[in-house]
Amino acid sequence: MIRQSSRDMIERLVGFDTVSAKSNLALIDFVQDYLESHGARCRRSSNAEGSKANLLASLGPDTAGGVVLSGHSDVVPVEGQPWDSDPFVLRETEGRLYGRGTADMKSFLAIALGLVPEFLARPLTRPIHLAFSYDEEVGCTGVPGLIEDMTRNLPAPALVIVGEPTSMQIVNGHKGCFLFEAEIHGQAAHSSLPQLGANAITAAGRIITYIAELAEAKRAGADRDSPFDPPYTTFNMGEINGGKAINIVAQDCRLAWEFRPLPGEDTEAIIAGIETVVAEEVLPKLQEFAPQASIEIRRPATVLPLAPEQDGAAETLVRRLTGANDTAVVSFGTEGGLFQAAGLSTIVFGPGSIDQAHQANEFITLEQVAACEAFMLKLRDWAAS
Ligand SMILES: [Zn+2]
Repeated sequence: MIRQSSRDMIERLVGFDTVSAKSNLALIDFVQDYLESHGARCRRSSNAEGSKANLLASLGPDTAGGVVLSGHSDVVPVEGQPWDSDPFVLRETEGRLYGRGTADMKSFLAIALGLVPEFLARPLTRPIHLAFSYDEEVGCTGVPGLIEDMTRNLPAPALVIVGEPTSMQIVNGHKGCFLFEAEIHGQAAHSSLPQLGANAITAAGRIITYIAELAEAKRAGADRDSPFDPPYTTFNMGEINGGKAINIVAQDCRLAWEFRPLPGEDTEAIIAGIETVVAEEVLPKLQEFAPQASIEIRRPATVLPLAPEQDGAAETLVRRLTGANDTAVVSFGTEGGLFQAAGLSTIVFGPGSIDQAHQANEFITLEQVAACEAFMLKLRDWAAS
């Protein structure tokens, strides 16, 4: 059995279509009104256009040492997926709640919201902060504003729990994800006179080869004791577009790739290596034939890795409250690495399974909701002790 407050809140949050491409303000307005009606202190941080916002709400004393329950308000699209019912209308059957975001990850936030009256039923000696971000699903681009606001304006919390779906297992590590796009502009020419042009596809080829060699080196140097799967930093060349015709020197080429670093990987060295090859080898070769040739590299998103902490406050507390001894690492990225990089002890721990995330007929089991409720009440007891 789950609490009516959890069910109602999950239904409300799922009902807001907060696919990342759209505004999340209707959800944030609703949540802020609700929290302020319970006396929470709320702060917002918005995107440049003002169309999306993070919300940071604090309950209890305005002091350091609190806990942050953090989640993203956005969800992935439903287009093209074979849903059996409206993804934005909560549906219950056979012990499961169906709807977009039930697993990833509105239920965690909704359960916390539903329990706010319980949180406040005892005088809190440590604050409980609720953090709602935007644009997690498009590369964790919203939460940095929230973290900056938090570190500047709130007394430092002791720990952060990112409630991504881990089936209520303690996850203390994951890889990062660094995304790159390169636009290569050379010079078109008739293919019989290649010396009059600068071939952007050939230039791309050198970048591709360099990254492939880097990937191979990381694989060869893998630490077989690493808990990660695979136990090394991976690279993927995901997109390439370029050229107009077989008999024209290719003027333009666009590449997109990512790499997923292990915690502790020297990501700056990897990025510097790529930039050096581009600046010292690939670009000069293009400019030899076309002085105006250019290569622009953009980084649309960066998800930092989450490193297991030695005796971290977050893991210690959640272990104590749940009695769990096991921890795990996962292959998906979360906002956790960004909180950790800001100096906050962080784990990933939440209800629902990642297996259902991003799928048609996404669901969470009532049993997982109940387990999360029980955990949050223990957390309240800690905050009130
Ligand atoms: Zn998620």
